[in-house]
Amino acid sequence: MPSGVRGRFAPSPSGRMHLGNVLCALLAWLSCRAQDGRMLLRIEDLDPQRSRPEYARKIEEDLLWLGLDWDEGGLQAPGGPCVQSTRGALYDAALGRLKQQGLLYPCFCTRAELHAAQAPHAGETAVYDGRCRRLSAQQRSELAAVRQPALRVKAPGVPVEFCDLFLGPQRRSPAAEVGDVIVRRRDGVHAYQLAVVVDDALMGVSEVVRGRDLLTSTALQIFLHRSLGFSPPRYGHIPLLVAPDGRRLSKRERDLDMGALRARYSSPEPLLGKLAQAAGLLAHPEPVTARDLIALYRPEAVPRRDIVIRPEEW
Ligand code: GLU
Repeated sequence: MPSGVRGRFAPSPSGRMHLGNVLCALLAWLSCRAQDGRMLLRIEDLDPQRSRPEYARKIEEDLLWLGLDWDEGGLQAPGGPCVQSTRGALYDAALGRLKQQGLLYPCFCTRAELHAAQAPHAGETAVYDGRCRRLSAQQRSELAAVRQPALRVKAPGVPVEFCDLFLGPQRRSPAAEVGDVIVRRRDGVHAYQLAVVVDDALMGVSEVVRGRDLLTSTALQIFLHRSLGFSPPRYGHIPLLVAPDGRRLSKRERDLDMGALRARYSSPEPLLGKLAQAAGLLAHPEPVTARDLIALYRPEAVPRRDIVIRPEEW
């Protein structure tokens, strides 16, 4: 009997997966499978400048190599590929509902939307100072005559409470943590913060396991779910991988991307064993399959702090 839990992995096809993405995919999959849930794969290709279909294909191929399968979504989904770039009408409908509630305003600032279509990874975006929120109707119409605006949502100052699957009770203020984020860019591209909420809700996702750099976005996303009449999923934020000097490992570390890793590991089991040890699920890094780990998965074993990785040991 399926449990009703619906988990998801939602990668952006802007490069090959790297070790941090693999850890995220593994823990999202294990949490879902350990509860007999259904797993969904959604490709977050909103950003036309950074997304490439060939990366989406590689992500799928790498996930399958790792043994991390999915029950719904992906590029071969029966109703068409599960990609955000085809879902603009749904995001527009959600914007209409937010607008009706007076929650949106146009923003004419330049350079503001650099990263809006991508999830905000730590330190990439500053909280917007809200200057366009305070424009008069006349200033808005004057500016609109010369410049197409982006749309921002008014982030509430009141804290939102939720219980993180790994970190326990949280009380966070959307206004302080992320501020009035962009929900539609000036060029019409919908932003991550809106699309992720609409998709998690409409795809029936009940559990989101993702990197801790998105913890600051969660209170705002819960606010958007509620404003749109959805019930938010449960969220769990996993540790980030950092170098011994504390620097976050990222896609720039090419020797930890799946292309380089697969060239060094001829099978996934030794790699999964090392990751499972780093994630607190194994005492020693013995080779395992993803399926072997389902019985060993315990959210309380996952470290609460960032995980230090020595790239040369992988
Ligand atoms: N697509 C986002 C990323 O790859 C993940 C968003 C999320 O899990 O909410 O960074």
